[in-house]
Amino acid sequence: MAASATSRREARRSYFHWASNHFRTSIRVRLAVWYAVILAAILAAFSGGSYLYFARATSARIDRALVDHVGAFTAVWEGEREEDRSTPSAAAVQAVREFRFPDRRVIVIDDRARVIAVSGGPPFRLGLDVAEGENISGTPLAPLVTAAARGLTMRQRFSDDERNVRAFASRVTIGSAAFSLIVLQDATEESERLSTFRESLAVAIPIALLLSAVGGYWLARASLAPVMAMSEHADQIGASNLHERLELRNTHDELDRLGAVFNRLLARVEDAFERQRRFMTDASHELRTPVAIIRSAADVSLARSDRGSDEYRDALRITRDAAVRMARIVDDLFMLARADAEQYPVTRCDVYLEELIVSAVQAMRPVAAAREIAIVFSVPEQEAPYSGDPALLQRLLLNLLDNAVKFSPVGGRVTIVLERDASDYRIAVTDTGHGIPEAERSLIFRRFYQVASSRSQSSGSTTSGAGLGLSIARWIVAVHGGSIALAESGSDGSTFLVRLPRESATASPAASQG
Ligand code: ADP
Repeated sequence: MAASATSRREARRSYFHWASNHFRTSIRVRLAVWYAVILAAILAAFSGGSYLYFARATSARIDRALVDHVGAFTAVWEGEREEDRSTPSAAAVQAVREFRFPDRRVIVIDDRARVIAVSGGPPFRLGLDVAEGENISGTPLAPLVTAAARGLTMRQRFSDDERNVRAFASRVTIGSAAFSLIVLQDATEESERLSTFRESLAVAIPIALLLSAVGGYWLARASLAPVMAMSEHADQIGASNLHERLELRNTHDELDRLGAVFNRLLARVEDAFERQRRFMTDASHELRTPVAIIRSAADVSLARSDRGSDEYRDALRITRDAAVRMARIVDDLFMLARADAEQYPVTRCDVYLEELIVSAVQAMRPVAAAREIAIVFSVPEQEAPYSGDPALLQRLLLNLLDNAVKFSPVGGRVTIVLERDASDYRIAVTDTGHGIPEAERSLIFRRFYQVASSRSQSSGSTTSGAGLGLSIARWIVAVHGGSIALAESGSDGSTFLVRLPRESATASPAASQG
């Protein structure tokens, strides 16, 4: 016995645990429960209100009828007395005979609490069936008579399980004598009607609640079905099927909009994922070339054992150049990765742009001299103070000058000009190279993009030559709140133009991969 009681208790506890968990985790259940609770409150208020109104109206109607009855009976009584010229008591006996109602009774009582007239009709029970000549004291009507004798009107209700009687007592003066007049009304039918109303409510409200809870659950389930479908589909979307989208029903409702927002998010994730993949492919492709060079230099050196020291030195030089190139590519990639994550430390301080230009030109001169290229610069006489990251600005200038030297023919000329207007500094780097084909001008700022015809010319430059220089330049300009563009390009050369706002706004955009 004890064991089964314990297991019942445990079963109950685990059911409540399941139910409360379900309530917390299921919107459908919560909606249905809230729906039923709110409906219960509305139904309770509405039916309680109607019941009260109905009960009060019934009671008021009976009270009014009793008062009217007293008035009408008194008039008849007065009439009898005048007609027969009899005593008020004899007239009262006469009047009650004429004044008969099946559910109402009139009782006339004199000052000594004696019943002098009572109308006939079926018994009322409840101790209210007094007879003519009977003393009222000791009957349930005594308090009414006492009140009436004091000149008060009084109402009282008598009831048991079966019957319900309303009584009204008042003082009536006929001729010179005063009497207490009690009118009884059998209100059993009315109270039965009220209790039927109560019982119907007691049955109808739980049924309505049950139906509304079931209906609410069904409604919530039907309206949330698309969410379930969406979450199941979304759960199956991964790296291998990022192109898939949630199915929209084109209902333009909230769920449809949620689906559309999710699809747009998926599109952005897919785009970022694709760019990341392309970036990885391009990076490994670029790193493959120097690795292959190192490997073949080693293979050639090892192929024969009788190599002279010059040959080994050549092999080591080739290996070192390839390693330097690899280091630059890795360095550039690392910089762009940190820029993407907005983790590259940009340290702004007061610099003079003309000084940065002069030092970049000096750094590039040996490379340019090797190809007999002249680098000239022009800076305004006035100083050009600027708040920026000196290392990044130096890198920007070197990338542009390096490209200008790299893509100019032997004996060419590279010019760098600094100017200022009301709002910006403008740095223009012009070369005498063969220019960039029209169709590729919009692509050169993309990562790893290299114009096919210029690939062979990258050797001997100070930057990676992997198509990352202009991407880095664009990011550096962006963090300084400026812009960079290919201003002109033709068969006699190209001009890259950098604009840096003089009131430099601090910006930290991620490096665009576009
Ligand atoms: P790279 O390291 O290959 O120079 P960049 O991002 O700096 O990469 O430049 C991308 C491509 O744009 C270059 O490979 C080249 O094809 C073209 N380009 C850049 N600057 C010049 C220039 N001054 N003249 C001609 N082509 C240029």
